[in-house]
Amino acid sequence: MHRTVLALLIALCSSLAWAHPGEHHAGFLHSLAHLLTEPDHLALMLLAGVAGWAGARFLRRRKAVRTQPPRH
Ligand SMILES: [Zn+2]
Repeated sequence: MHRTVLALLIALCSSLAWAHPGEHHAGFLHSLAHLLTEPDHLALMLLAGVAGWAGARFLRRRKAVRTQPPRH
């Protein structure tokens, strides 16, 4: 069941579904400029940064709880 839902989510978020006009393969600098100026790419970078920050915070807190000495 979970695999089906995951496959469906991946299919719905495929690059074809979210494509926008513009070129991604026109040379390194052009591609870099494109990635840094397109609002959708900037939004995804921001989202990835927030997700990474939240994940790191979660793992840090979980580790801190696990390494605390037991209370008596
Ligand atoms: Zn793009």
